[in-house]
Amino acid sequence: MEIAAGQGEMLRGSYSAELLKVMCERAEQYNVQINRRLTTPELFMAIIQNKIIGKTGIRATRAPSSKAAINSNLVVCQPYIKPANFVAPADHPDIMATLSHLSLVHYNNERVLTNFKVAWNDDDGCDIVFAPISHTIFGDSGLGDDGEAGIDAFRQSHACNEFCEAFGMGIL
Ligand SMILES: [Zn+2]
Repeated sequence: MEIAAGQGEMLRGSYSAELLKVMCERAEQYNVQINRRLTTPELFMAIIQNKIIGKTGIRATRAPSSKAAINSNLVVCQPYIKPANFVAPADHPDIMATLSHLSLVHYNNERVLTNFKVAWNDDDGCDIVFAPISHTIFGDSGLGDDGEAGIDAFRQSHACNEFCEAFGMGIL
């Protein structure tokens, strides 16, 4: 279960990175100026082991390896982002809504990435986008995937903006 959740997060992270690349290519193709540099954090999985501190003089009853297995957690890590830099959803730049629209176009209406988290500039001068929710027609992309209902809900709620138009995407 933990592994599946972790893998889902890694998968969404790789979709986000791919999508940013696609958006940059499209910006060049359509000669669109995006006034912010966007990036995604590098995600990696790690196993955190909770160390057992045994009391002196008491003999361990389990082999050390089984202790380690019981007391370990699989976590998905990313470089630290200051919570103070997080942008409230209402203040997200328009380009984020366009990024979701673009995901639908790029993945042939079979997948949408939405509800990105956004943080203002990190030290490299890039805004960071991360932790989206994905909805797929098969509903198999992990936590928060509402399947076709999720895709439909995005279509209903998305309002196209100037970037959607500039990227040559039809109005949803
Ligand atoms: Zn749009």
